[in-house]
Amino acid sequence: MLKDRIEAELDRLQEQNLERKVKELVFHDSCHGEDRDGQEYLILSSNNYLGLTYAPEVLEAVKNSLSQGTGSTGSRLVTGGLREAAELERKLARFKYCEDAMLFNTGYMTNLGVLYGLVDAGDIIFSDELNHASIIDGCRISKAKVVVYKHNDMRDLRDKLELYKSTDQQKFIVTDGVFSMDGDIVNLPELVHIKKQYDAFIIVDDAHSVGVLGADGAGTASHYGINSSEIDLQVGTLSKALASSGGYVAGNKIILDYLRNKSRPFIFSTFISPMDVAAANAALDLLVDQGAGMLARLRSNTLLVRTKLLEAGLPVIAGNTPIVPIMVGEAKVAVAMDQALREKKILLSAIRPPTVPQGESRLRLTVMATHEPEELRQAVDVIIQVWQSLVR
Ligand SMILES: *Cc1c(COP(=O)(O)O)cnc(C)c1O
Repeated sequence: MLKDRIEAELDRLQEQNLERKVKELVFHDSCHGEDRDGQEYLILSSNNYLGLTYAPEVLEAVKNSLSQGTGSTGSRLVTGGLREAAELERKLARFKYCEDAMLFNTGYMTNLGVLYGLVDAGDIIFSDELNHASIIDGCRISKAKVVVYKHNDMRDLRDKLELYKSTDQQKFIVTDGVFSMDGDIVNLPELVHIKKQYDAFIIVDDAHSVGVLGADGAGTASHYGINSSEIDLQVGTLSKALASSGGYVAGNKIILDYLRNKSRPFIFSTFISPMDVAAANAALDLLVDQGAGMLARLRSNTLLVRTKLLEAGLPVIAGNTPIVPIMVGEAKVAVAMDQALREKKILLSAIRPPTVPQGESRLRLTVMATHEPEELRQAVDVIIQVWQSLVR
């Protein structure tokens, strides 16, 4: 019976162009790779915004970390308590202008761990409808009441908070800084204002903002010139611009000390490897020391791609982050474009429901600092041709 149910669901996914398949890629550098069949690709769908997975300093740091062995061998509270991890936390805290930072094993587990650890059953979480799945899942396991507000709609958030104004329940507002599928930026100035007015606790997930937004690459608060003390917790990941694996939360020491005692995803899972820690440490050092040049390249590449696509009339969600969603609507069209682009040596994956709402399938192009402007120009021309032949 279970087998029938599973087969029926897999058939349905295939028929509706919603089936997902694992890839088998071999990377050549941060922007190029090939698949199992030897087909070469320009990679236009990676979260490796600064291309640091191949920075010589990062590779060297990982080599040197091998003296610590290949695994962390335990949770952070036991043998996984690596000294280099504590150093990374201190650096992250400084970088985010916070008192303290705490590492988790992934960005996903950070959201789970923070919401699970901090939020009690009697509390209320106000969550943007387009928040990342890890926030949605964190809300679910927290057992709190969850109120979903319209995407980046501060009026709707205010209206919903107003309904609970007279209760003495603890209120949390949680949001992505840069939204992972639309690539737009949260209205943080207004959010901070609302937070004060309603005495709420805010959590901003900067997974796609660190190494992307702000003159120093420190994320959403830096982008708006907002003091970090205005935001209670800032979540982030080591797996995007920081070229590694892992996640972190930055904020006040007392809250993080509480989480170190209470957060099950932190307590009951073996910590990331010494290699992961070394890579993130080296990538963060590069961002701090040489971020300006990398961010300038990322921004000029982003501008080049966005401008060219818009000029050709493609339905791109406007904005200025390196996440450039090309909206095609039906999953079938997105899959056809994905396939056609692959044949032309471009890896730009289709994003379909349930990752995005029904009828909002898209190709989510991401730009990196290490792309050569000329290869981007050529690739965008190909994308425009494919779009014209399949969509228009
Ligand atoms: C990618 C992402 C995460 C998850 O981070 P991982 O390190 O990949 O687990 C969490 N939040 C947001 C907003 C993300 O985009």
